[in-house]
Amino acid sequence: MYHHVKKLMYDVNVGEADPRFGKMLLEQFGGANGELAAAMQYTIQGWSCDDPERKDLLMDIGTEEISHLEVVGALIRMHMMPIKKALDQAEQDPIVAVTGGGGLNLFNSAGNPWTADYLKISGELEVDLRNNIAAEARAKITYERLMHLTDDVGTKEALQFLMTREITHMKAFTAALDSLGTGRFSIGKLPPTPGVVDEYYNDSTGEGPLGKDGVGNWIGKDGLHVAETPDFIHAIAASIHEGEELAKKANGAGGARRGTRVPSHRKTA
Ligand code: MN
Ligand code: MN
Repeated sequence: MYHHVKKLMYDVNVGEADPRFGKMLLEQFGGANGELAAAMQYTIQGWSCDDPERKDLLMDIGTEEISHLEVVGALIRMHMMPIKKALDQAEQDPIVAVTGGGGLNLFNSAGNPWTADYLKISGELEVDLRNNIAAEARAKITYERLMHLTDDVGTKEALQFLMTREITHMKAFTAALDSLGTGRFSIGKLPPTPGVVDEYYNDSTGEGPLGKDGVGNWIGKDGLHVAETPDFIHAIAASIHEGEELAKKANGAGGARRGTRVPSHRKTA
């Protein structure tokens, strides 16, 4: 059951409306890492969750995200206000201005409609908690980037609040994941193949304009070690080598033929 309280989770004040920034803010309303996506992802995970404690966590945070959506919506409405009156402002976002009458709609900053494809719901708690930690990280960095794009103090303060809450959620999801006690690399029930699971393949090698070869200090942790390049890579390398040899032979024969067609005046020169 849901209940609406007639106040915002964080009061918003916009000094000067900026429709261009309002359009950017739509990213956190109807975008891939936005508040509706977060609310739906956690809530629907929660409805399917059989673990009562973690179900409660998913419902708590899923519900808070709807409150965030409401705050972002209020900010967007304030910033979009001028597009109702002037063509040059309406041009900033014709979808909102003409189709939406200046009101809110579920589009991202590029005008693409919200989609359930944004949601990461696996039905496996240890996978979904990781999905949620990643979702919070994406929401946090999106707010940070938005904060760099406005000088409006009231807007910045609201975004600072929303950005902070995403880190709070990240902490809660991380603690819930740790509390499962299943181990950092335990996903599902089937164990990975021993040996292979610890092999790290140095599959990008050499040095050039695209970077240099290096093996990070994470090697050696959790049993991870650099292993010989696996057989399938050798097979591919061998077939490339064979192909090059064949090409060389073909070129050699062609070269001889071309040699016979050297114009006669060159021989006498
Ligand atoms: Mn949020
Ligand atoms: Mn969050």
